[in-house]
Amino acid sequence: MTIKKSPQTALIHTDYQAPEGFAAFPSAIHHASTVLFKNVAAMRSGQWKEKNAYTYGLHGTPTTFTLEARLAEIEGGKHCLLAPSGLAAIAMVDFALLKSGDDVLLPDNVYNPNRELGKWLTQDFGVTARYYDPLIGAGIAALIQPNTKLIWTEAPGSVSMEVPDLPAICKAAHARGVLVALDNTWSAGLALRGFDLGVDIIMQALTKYQSGGSDVLMGAVITRELALYERLSGSHMRLGMGVGADDAYLVLRGLPTMKLRFDAHDAGGRKLAAWLKTRPEIAKVLHPALADCPGHDIWRRDFTGAGGLFSVLFDARYSEPQVDRFIDALTLFGIGFSWGGANSLAVPYPIKGMRAQWSEQGSLVRFNVGLEDVDDLIADIEQAFAALEA
Ligand SMILES: *Cc1c(COP(=O)(O)O)cnc(C)c1O
Repeated sequence: MTIKKSPQTALIHTDYQAPEGFAAFPSAIHHASTVLFKNVAAMRSGQWKEKNAYTYGLHGTPTTFTLEARLAEIEGGKHCLLAPSGLAAIAMVDFALLKSGDDVLLPDNVYNPNRELGKWLTQDFGVTARYYDPLIGAGIAALIQPNTKLIWTEAPGSVSMEVPDLPAICKAAHARGVLVALDNTWSAGLALRGFDLGVDIIMQALTKYQSGGSDVLMGAVITRELALYERLSGSHMRLGMGVGADDAYLVLRGLPTMKLRFDAHDAGGRKLAAWLKTRPEIAKVLHPALADCPGHDIWRRDFTGAGGLFSVLFDARYSEPQVDRFIDALTLFGIGFSWGGANSLAVPYPIKGMRAQWSEQGSLVRFNVGLEDVDDLIADIEQAFAALEA
């Protein structure tokens, strides 16, 4: 029945319905806090856990369900949950799987905010977080306690670039009933097939390659096992982890070009890394595709690519202020955190203060190789080296 409407009401209510049958490649962007039900019975039967029904914007829209389904497929998983940042995705995993009295193992080269979360869980939540040598491999078995519930891995560590032996860690963990989570951001899920190597949970910072635009923050947690997914979705719901529709769209928009971008970052990164290796200013290039990078043999066995993120150690004769001057003298490299976008970045890391064990000398600088012409990037670094001596 059509009722009479004043202009004020017409601003809010309309009988118009767009014709059906519209089709296009991009996903529709559905904005919603309130989700409408046909009637009260439909509302009462709604289950927020079921991804074939809608209950409330926080628990999913066609836009977020589409992104989740696509990410699960890309990674070779079955279930996916979106989070408002990569770090929020890490927190979702910890709060789903750890309770007071439990123990979690983290690699000593772990993404530093993950380490901070471990410290917080230890200080205030009755959980113990312990740190292991990222190259420990099967030796992790000796660290597993009866109360160990979760082992985080990161392949490779995104600052110092050691590549872990995931199959060996997973084998030791599963023999004791411990779950393994992988931060797979470095490979974008393209160059490392985490589930095939045995991990139970894959976390991605979509902020990086999936978005590709340096303009979105988002994370994802992906699993194969339904029971594990249900534990994670309980954490997702209780922590209120929603993402904005426009942000989800931006990530969906980035996906079709991600492989091309990733391969271009990879080619640029390897060319720059090889050039840096020839330079006397640089003591070590920490790039998993280089033979002397810790864990290189594992990278060769398990990975099909490298992307554009790697680090260098300057020769120890250069002080920190000298290396800072080098970074300031760069013109094509932005100074800033994150990576995976078109713009190259350089950032110094106080690696000694971040690690329990770090015996290398020399200042560490991490490069994100963007999509510029690599010869221009090389020329930029070459001119900035002059500032080291200034
Ligand atoms: C950036 C990053 C994260 C966190 O992602 P945010 O969206 O910035 O919170 C987690 N792990 C790794 C390895 C990262 O590089």
